[in-house]
Amino acid sequence: MPPRVAFLGLGAIGAPMARRLAAPPFELAVWNRTLDKSASFARGLEVRVADTPADAARTAQFIVTCLSTSRDVESLLDGPSGLLAGVERGAMLIDCTSGDPATSRRIAARLAEHGVAFIDAPVSGGTSGAEQGTLTVMCGGDASAIERARPVLQAFGKKIVHCGPVGAGDALKSVNNALLAVHVWSTAEGLAALAKAGVSPSVALDVINASSGRSNTSQNLFPERVLTRKFPRTFRLALLDKDVNIAAGVAREQQVPSPLLQLTAELFRAAHRALGEEADHIEAVRLLEDWAQVEIA
Ligand code: NDP
Repeated sequence: MPPRVAFLGLGAIGAPMARRLAAPPFELAVWNRTLDKSASFARGLEVRVADTPADAARTAQFIVTCLSTSRDVESLLDGPSGLLAGVERGAMLIDCTSGDPATSRRIAARLAEHGVAFIDAPVSGGTSGAEQGTLTVMCGGDASAIERARPVLQAFGKKIVHCGPVGAGDALKSVNNALLAVHVWSTAEGLAALAKAGVSPSVALDVINASSGRSNTSQNLFPERVLTRKFPRTFRLALLDKDVNIAAGVAREQQVPSPLLQLTAELFRAAHRALGEEADHIEAVRLLEDWAQVEIA
């Protein structure tokens, strides 16, 4: 019997992840809140388009969610068309949302009452990693549940890591993204200062990328997206703001002194507010450029 999978949330990263499940050995059903997106996703593919989360979950052994926040996933559970109305006992929810640990634990407890397993399984590697099936997947939950989910995770993931109990994947993902945010903001400050001091950003990056200050941000993101002024929209700033806020919350909850994480959360909240819902995460640089009155180009 082919593994029956339902995929809910065909956004920027959800759609390419789901596409990797739209071929044998999997049997795929998809659902998206904006129904047009699921119809255009399914064009030319052997995929069932569901009208509701309940309809998508019906007969599925694995339900994969990839929504903006854990709260969005939680909001799909209830009501006559909600997930719990369709899901079968023994199924598993694999939540690939970059979520928050407390909400994931709450979702896991609700599902357990219905005999449904849960793992949090946020991903890293961007939309290109999703297309190529090379994402890193950070899993929280029982080891046996993660092993059961592995064939599904391997369709879009290359490095699949069991991080700890439910919520551990979310916590680790949020810290990873907080580090990304720190790199983006600090690289922008440094390059803006150098530009004003008469050092061109391309010369600065050439040197930094052959020195100890280099990062993925300096090696790839700034040369490809900032210096070219392309700022492609692959990962919304609103979502990175959410992630840094989760990481800052994890640090506070654990009573770890975290002035840098708290400040970074504040900076990305300000950038999100200034640049709006559709801006890409790298566009946070524009706020610093505005403050510094210099363009990093
Ligand atoms: P998008 O903003 O492109 O898409 C969000 C998806 O969530 C859409 O399908 C949207 O539906 C759906 N959604 C949002 N709110 C609700 C709701 N209340 N009920 C039902 N559906 C809802 O986000 P991405 O695809 O970029 O990101 C999805 C998750 O993956 C996020 O948690 C993000 O942080 C994470 N992520 C993203 C990466 C990227 O490179 N883009 C990389 C790694 C992780 P609709 O179409 O109707 O709006």
